Amino acid sequence: MALIVQKYGGTSVGDVDRIANVARRVARTKAAGNDVVVVVSAMSGETNRLIGLARAIDPDHDPRELDMLVSTGEQVTIALLAMALHKIGVPARSYTGGQVHIRTDNAFTKARIVDIDGAKIRKDLAEGRVVVVAGFQGVDAEGNITTLGRGGSDTTGVALAAALKADECQIYTDVDGVYTTDPRVVPQARRLDSITYEEMLELASLGAKVLQIRSVEFASKYNVPLRVLSSFDEGQGTLIKSEDASTMEQPLIAGVAFNRDEAKLTIMGVPDRPGIAFQILGPVADKNIEVDMIVQNVGQDGSTDFTFTVHRNDYKKALAVLQELKAKLGAREVAGDDKIVKVSVVGVGMRSHAGVASKMFKALSDEGVNIRMISTSEIKISVVVDEKYLELAVRALHTAFGLDAPPPQQQ
Ligand code: ADP
Ligand code: ASP
Ligand code: MG
Repeated sequence: MALIVQKYGGTSVGDVDRIANVARRVARTKAAGNDVVVVVSAMSGETNRLIGLARAIDPDHDPRELDMLVSTGEQVTIALLAMALHKIGVPARSYTGGQVHIRTDNAFTKARIVDIDGAKIRKDLAEGRVVVVAGFQGVDAEGNITTLGRGGSDTTGVALAAALKADECQIYTDVDGVYTTDPRVVPQARRLDSITYEEMLELASLGAKVLQIRSVEFASKYNVPLRVLSSFDEGQGTLIKSEDASTMEQPLIAGVAFNRDEAKLTIMGVPDRPGIAFQILGPVADKNIEVDMIVQNVGQDGSTDFTFTVHRNDYKKALAVLQELKAKLGAREVAGDDKIVKVSVVGVGMRSHAGVASKMFKALSDEGVNIRMISTSEIKISVVVDEKYLELAVRALHTAFGLDAPPPQQQ
């Protein structure tokens, strides 16, 4: 007998028929002799709807109250799923995050799980029940409801699997696995049978929202076997696991990721002297703005152009900080662009192969895509390009690195 944690995303519980479909899947897993813990998201669109209500009251709402509000989405689905299980004769009980002691810090809207006490869940399992837990939410030391950031139900699933030492954590979603890139953008994308934690972590960090970043961190840290599967079809999905001899044989590049939420800012003609980077980025950090890529160029006149990227939501705030700094630092000009995107190639094979960057730049050049910024790490290369080139760039890289699925066989 195995213990399986299954997580079902928003589309998979998007209406009552789909909830009944999830109940049948859970029942089958249970009937096969397994203990089952189910984590569910809010019905698709519900979290956005609730955030919209909060914004309509006050765009500057209190994050504690936002968490109180958005956590209700998952509370609806756990109860409906438990009822759907009862209807087909499966004993089940639903719980909120707080009720099963998913303890977090108090960083509202982006809380981190610090502890899970699995005793209550284990007791229910021992008594033959399926346990249905609300994803995305926890409770802080003072009993306030917290949430784990968008897409956070993935992290609830993996954290529960780690705490309960489950045999596998299965993430059921609206695609049948992890693909070489978002299959909704590149129809030639291919499903991967397996991918390493490290590659999946990079892909998630660089924009592939199929798994929340933190869920992959958790899985890797606690060695939780993690599988992404379709709620609607049968299949093996994609297994996310440690690097081993079989993964070493895999191609150079595992996948292409992209992120549309980017904006770029430049402060030009600042004096090139020690401390200047801190003088620019200190005030940006003071406004709680996270900076991603940074490029500094020293011109012939000895002054510096300093460019960095931020989340598009922080663009206006960051621009205002630079406008304010302009006079203080004696800069020549401040410029910005919020119509840019980041496209990245990821693969552990890059460690042992040269020439990946030049292959990437050639593919983009052949399509006339201008590269605005570049950054590299051991297993990824990212470029910033104009938003209008996003699809073209992703497709060109997908083809150049040999990731396209073979065309369907002619009869
Ligand atoms: P859920 O609501 O089930 O959590 P998400 O919308 O969060 O589902 O994640 C699934 C989506 O992730 C897919 O519909 C797909 O468009 C997108 N996606 C982005 N990159 C990838 C990728 N490399 N492989 C598979 N799906 C991807
Ligand atoms: N309902 C939450 C969201 O939309 C959490 C999740 O779906 O994982 O972000
Ligand atoms: Mg998701």
